[in-house]
This record gives sequence, C-alpha cells and structure tokens, in this order.
Amino acid sequence: MSAPADTAVGRTRQDDLIAGYRLVQLVGKGGMGEVHQAVQLSLGRTVAVKLLKADLARDEQFVARFEKEAAALATLRHPNIVSIVDRGKSNETYYLVMEFVDGPGLRERMRDPDFDTMTALKTLIQVSRAIDYAHGRGVIHRDLKPENILFDDQAGSIPKVTDFGLAGFDEKAGVAQQNLTQTNVAMGTASYMAPEQRVDAKSAGPRADLYALGVMLYELLTGELPLGQFDPPSVKKPGVDKRLDPIVARCLKPAPEDRYPSVAAFLAELELVVPMTATPAPSKETKARRVLRQVKERAQKVGRVVALAVVAFAAIIIATVFIRARFESKRRPAGIELMSDDGAQEALTTPGRVDKATRVVTLGEGPDTVTVMSRGRKVVLEQGGVRFPEPEDLTAGRTLVDAQVEGDGLRLSAIVDTEAGAPSRLEPLLALFRGPRPEARSALMLLGTGGRYVALIISGSGGQPELEWNLGPDKQGHMRAPLPTMTKDQLLQLHLDPLTSELVAIVGEGRDARVLGESLRLGTDWRDSFSESPRAGLGCLDGTCAFRSIVFEGRALTKVLTPPPTPPLEVDVEDLPLPVAKPMAKKPAVAKPVVTPKPTTVASTKPVPPQKPAPVPAKKPPPPVTPPKKK
Ligand code: ADP
Ligand code: MG
Repeated sequence: MSAPADTAVGRTRQDDLIAGYRLVQLVGKGGMGEVHQAVQLSLGRTVAVKLLKADLARDEQFVARFEKEAAALATLRHPNIVSIVDRGKSNETYYLVMEFVDGPGLRERMRDPDFDTMTALKTLIQVSRAIDYAHGRGVIHRDLKPENILFDDQAGSIPKVTDFGLAGFDEKAGVAQQNLTQTNVAMGTASYMAPEQRVDAKSAGPRADLYALGVMLYELLTGELPLGQFDPPSVKKPGVDKRLDPIVARCLKPAPEDRYPSVAAFLAELELVVPMTATPAPSKETKARRVLRQVKERAQKVGRVVALAVVAFAAIIIATVFIRARFESKRRPAGIELMSDDGAQEALTTPGRVDKATRVVTLGEGPDTVTVMSRGRKVVLEQGGVRFPEPEDLTAGRTLVDAQVEGDGLRLSAIVDTEAGAPSRLEPLLALFRGPRPEARSALMLLGTGGRYVALIISGSGGQPELEWNLGPDKQGHMRAPLPTMTKDQLLQLHLDPLTSELVAIVGEGRDARVLGESLRLGTDWRDSFSESPRAGLGCLDGTCAFRSIVFEGRALTKVLTPPPTPPLEVDVEDLPLPVAKPMAKKPAVAKPVVTPKPTTVASTKPVPPQKPAPVPAKKPPPPVTPPKKK
C-alpha cells in the first residue's frame, strides 16, 4: 500500500481546504492570491476567504505581508472598510476571513451610465473618510484604486475599502507595529502610486494615499487618468465644477509636502463643493442658521425647565391640599377629640375632702384622698389643682375625678387657665401643610359611661365657648355662644337644676357670669342620660390647661344662680331636649329657651331676649356660686 499523503494533499478538495469554512466559489484573483466566497460553518453565514498563493506561502516576506494585512484590518472598524473575521493557517494554506461584500467594484461601477459625477464624488468622500480614519489609527493603505473599492449592495450600496495587502503602519502615529519594513517593496498599481512610493515603498506615508485619492478623483471627474502634463478636470471635461481643479491639483503634487497636510484637510475643501446632505459638515452652517439653531435650542431648554417647574409646582399644590385635607379630616369636634381613648390610663391621688353630708367633693387640702384617673396626655397634680403641661405626642387628654355625688342636682365648677403651647420654629412651614395651628382649649366635663359626656369648652385664644354633648345615640349636639372668654382665671360651671332637670353651662363669675346659649332639658331621669351618675371631668386640647378650685357637688340646688343666658350663635342639636315640658309658671322669672330638635343650626334658632337673674326664693338662701379662693 502506498502512502496516501502526497496524493491526498494534492487532491484536497477546495471546499475542505480551510477548517471551519466551506469554499463556495472563486470571486477574485489578485497579486497575492485568491478570494473565495465561503460559508463560515459555525455561524452558517457567507464570508470572503482570501488565500495566500501556495508558492508565495513559501516566501516569508509574503507571509509576513499577508499577516500584516490581517493586522491592519484588525486595527480598523469603520463602515467603509471591509471588516476582518478571522485569520489562520490550515493545511499549509494561509488564509484571512473577511465580511463578504456582494456588490461590484468601483472599476465596474464607473462603467455604469447611472453612476453620475455627483454619486462618484460622494463615493470618493466616503472612501476618503475611511482613509482619514485609517490614518488616524496609524494605517496607510498604499494600494488605493477602483479595484480595491467594493460596493456593499446589501447595505444600500455603500463603498468599502478592501485589500490592505500593501498596508503599512505609520511610524509617526506611534501605533505598535510589526517589524516588517523589509516587506515594503515597491508594489502597487503604478497609475495610482505617488512618485515617492514608486521610488521607495518605505517612504510612502499618509500623503501617498492622498495622491491615490487625487488620481481617483481625477478619473471619476474626467474618465481618464492624470498622466504627464494633465489638464485640470474642468478643462478636460467641461461642466465639471472649477472649484475642484485646485483640489485635484493639490492632491497630485509630486512632492508630498505640497499636498494637503492630511486627508481631513482635503475633505474639508472637497465637502464645500460636494453637498453631502446625509452628513452635512458643521462648517457649512451659516451664521444666520447658527443663531436660529441656538435660539431654538435655548427655547427648548427654557421650555423644559418651565415644564419641570410647572410639574413640580403642581405636585407641591396637590401634596399640600392632600396633607391639609388629611389634617383637617383628623380635626374632630373638641368633645369627640377629648373622649378619644388614645393613650394609657393613669391613676393619681391627691388630698381633698369628700363630704358625704353636704355631698361635696373638693380637690386640694383635706383629710381625704381623692383619686384622679387620666387618659391621653400626662397630667400633674399641684396645689390641689390639675395641670396639663405642654403636649408632647398626644394633643388630647382628659382626667376624671373618681367620686360620685348623690343628690337631685349637680354642680361642677373650676377656675381654668388656658394657654397656647410654645410655637415651634417650623410653625410657618407646618402651617403651610396642615393649616393654622389648632388653638388651645380647656374643657369642664361631666363624664358618664359608654362615651357619654357634656363638655363646656373654652378656647385659649379667647374665642367663643362651646357646649358639646353626647348623651346617647340620638342625643348629641353642640352649641356655641358669642361670649367672650378670658384665657386666665376663667370660672366655668356646669349646673344641673334639681327642679327643672335642665343643664346649663355658665362662663364667668359674679355679675359677669353668663349662661351659654340654651339649657339642655334632661328630664327627671337625667342620670340615665349619662348611663350612671356622672363624674367630674377636666379636659385639655392642643395647649396647656390648668384647673384649680375644683368643686363637685350633688346637693339639691334650687334655681338661684341663673345668670342671663346668651343667644346661641350656633346650635347643632340632635333629639334634645327630652320631651317632658314643664309648665313655665314654675319658673316665673326664668324664661329659659328650650332647645328643640332642629335640622339646621344658627338660622332657625330664635334669639332669646335678655333675662334677669331669678329672684332668690325666700325660704332658701342662695348657695354660694363664688368659687373658693384662688391660689
Ligand atoms: P489582491 O491583494 O490579490 O488584489 P484583493 O483583496 O484585492 O486581493 O481581492 C481580490 C478580489 O477579490 C477583489 O478585487 C474582489 O473582487 C474580491 N474580493 C476581495 N475582498 C472581497 C470581499 N471581502 N468580499 C467580496 N469580494 C472580495
Ligand atoms: Mg486588490
């Protein structure tokens, strides 16, 4: 059996030649070798495979040049330069794989009658840009000619520079280069070759490419090569823009230093003559256009800022309205706020006097111990009084005196000081969101069970006092009277008349005492309205409240202390009073207004004429309404 080696290699089928690629057909032949259309098997895509001729593969200078071509291509990535895919050696064959450019070469295109001068010029500009880019990367092509420009028809007929087989690395560009200068032999196509390149390929710098571009430009404009003493393009071919003559002439100067300093400089002049609508050169922008553009840009910028500001402003307004609404929805009537069961309950004891005979409970000095139950805000007991200091987290607090007093009537009185808390420094900002700060309020209360209460509330800013009550599901309401209140040493009383079973709230003391609005007719079974016999309560909201001289008595008092009532400014009543109407004759001097169920407030309430204090019944001396001495 003979060794198959020789015959096997010699018969290697072309499509198996390069591992990983299947050669499909030969598409071109040049000085260095063959170019085949091929399929890259790993990706199944069409590529171009350039093979170094077998005989040249034995010459290391040609191998080196072939590798240099690959190195040059690998340095470059530009839409008008054919891109490299791979390189290698397979079965002793050196190969280099590139993207496959399907269209014809520029030489072929130049014969096409549709290939007009303008298209030709635009093509040359695209090629020049590619070369300018390559020069920027330190690569000099050295073999620019129409045969080495291919059109990629698939990508919209864009020209691509190929065949970097004679490429050199520009030493001045400082790009790492292989030591291959010995391969810079005088090769290339004479007609496109710069004079200095014909003498010595090593001395062919970037301006040699500029010369080749000048030859191509001349040829594209006139259809002929600029040989010997050539005529300017516009003379050679009438109709050619005269401005192109000096451009071509400068490219074709025999001495490289007389040519343009760079391809970029050449392009700058060429592009002034050739309008490239697709990529207008910025230098062509007129002054008027620039101003217009700047104005436009500025307007857009301002527009954006204004839009942003409007959005931000709207967001702030919405947020403010939303937060305010939340704060406002949280602001409940004072009585309800006071009765909320926020916070822990705390029991404190204070000395006092519980007099079973007179049915009077007083806080302060005395032999007895009185328990005070507080809920919500903290309270302090001092000198027989109860004080709510500056609120911390909770704003509402109430305290109940844990003692019941028996009797037909009831009287609870206390001297009250109400003060607004110290404003925080953030107050103006907070006010923006949550509205003005709520005012400080103190309340004198009768507390039943199951959330039942009557509260006389005065404001710390001297506003109108209010009476609020909840005596069952359908006995709730509030009224407000145009009484001035003092914030300091204000005597408050809640008085349930044993004869009439009417509850009145009294603000002020002595001659200045006034009944707040109308009385509440609770009826003889008034204790039921509270569920059980009510206890004395003290409340505080949004400020500092101090109560002293607290007296709670259950003796059967007669109507003696009725100061003139005031017409209520605002009444909001549900199902009060209780229906038993007593003959008015029994209360000759006190024609008290009766609160009747009303759907609305102020308007439907009749003002009550001023009343005189009731005459004191002869039999019974008036009980003291004057509070104990202030401390
Ligand atoms: P040479 O150095 O031998 O001139 P070229 O690189 O110019 O080799 O290629 C020779 C020919 O092969 C070209 O003229 C062209 O017709 C064809 N060719 C080269 N590169 C490609 C490519 N990437 N895609 C398609 N055809 C190509
Ligand atoms: Mg070629």
